[in-house]
Amino acid sequence: MAGYVPGEQPREDEFIKLNTNENPYPPSPRVLAAIENVLHDDRLRKYPDPLGTQFRQTAGRVLGVDPESILIGNGSDDVLTILTRAFVPEGGLVASLTPSYLLYQTLADIQGGRFEAVPFGPDWSLPRPWPLPQAALTFVANPNSPSGTVVSLEALRHLAGELRGPLVIDEAYVDFAAANALPLVNLGTVIVTRSLSKSYSLAGLRFGFAIAPPELVQQLVKVKDSYNCDALSLAGAAAALEDQEYFRVTRSKVIAVRQRLERDLTRLGFRVVPSQANFVWASRADQPVRPIFEELKRRKILVRYMDYGPQGDGLRISVGTDQEIDQLIAELATIV
Ligand SMILES: *Cc1c(COP(=O)(O)O)cnc(C)c1O
Repeated sequence: MAGYVPGEQPREDEFIKLNTNENPYPPSPRVLAAIENVLHDDRLRKYPDPLGTQFRQTAGRVLGVDPESILIGNGSDDVLTILTRAFVPEGGLVASLTPSYLLYQTLADIQGGRFEAVPFGPDWSLPRPWPLPQAALTFVANPNSPSGTVVSLEALRHLAGELRGPLVIDEAYVDFAAANALPLVNLGTVIVTRSLSKSYSLAGLRFGFAIAPPELVQQLVKVKDSYNCDALSLAGAAAALEDQEYFRVTRSKVIAVRQRLERDLTRLGFRVVPSQANFVWASRADQPVRPIFEELKRRKILVRYMDYGPQGDGLRISVGTDQEIDQLIAELATIV
């Protein structure tokens, strides 16, 4: 099988790194304090809470959901793995869209399942009727990567109704969007996944979670590694969610810079899809974009080049700080 290829993490620090959608701002200072507390509290000697009770209570309160409906994961990729293990039998069909997150196929391959990706409809819409209702598991990234686009709650509700198996709505970027799919969880067959990597600036801590019907969470717990989240990440994740004020400030900074990045790229002749995530998908009609990616890299700016074959290619550019985007735009102006 072909493995998943994560975005490059260069060893040297001199790069402006806009390739893996990390948050350009640091996490809340409360995260560091909570992690230090664990270190000074003799808690590393003992196993962590397998269910992450304290995190579930905090997340339940902040999101307005039942704590019993929360499943913790070592990053949301771990949650996606748990879901694939739980629902996909050998030879079972995993369905998703294209262009979208490439990990879904890798998870299906590891599981010995089959994978099919449905091309997006016009303007990044969900095709109707959905051609793969028989799938054992269906993944929809919303906002989608690499496009940053969203499909409506109504379209997702309709899709869930068409499917024989569960629908996983991967909301890794939803904190940068206008709406989320939590109201669909009570349909009973919808599972929403979240990540602290992007909107909470904690990609290095590894923490994500799912919101699913409580009776489903009880079953999913049987599939996960008992101690999939360590004591440090559990404490840091709870502290991050506690600090909603800090979260809102960073989020609005990212959204403001995103709008400015979209404007500047459009001015330079890129085709840009309006994004509801912390990155922008940019392509061009007049010249290939791969050489632009390579030239930016030579100039120590890293973006993500993605090629979806017949679906086209483009540059996925993470929203950095204002200064980082200044530099990116200045270099692009001399390249294109
Ligand atoms: C980043 C990302 C994830 C994984 O997030 P982690 O919590 O860091 O594992 C999941 N889905 C999509 C679409 C992503 O872009």
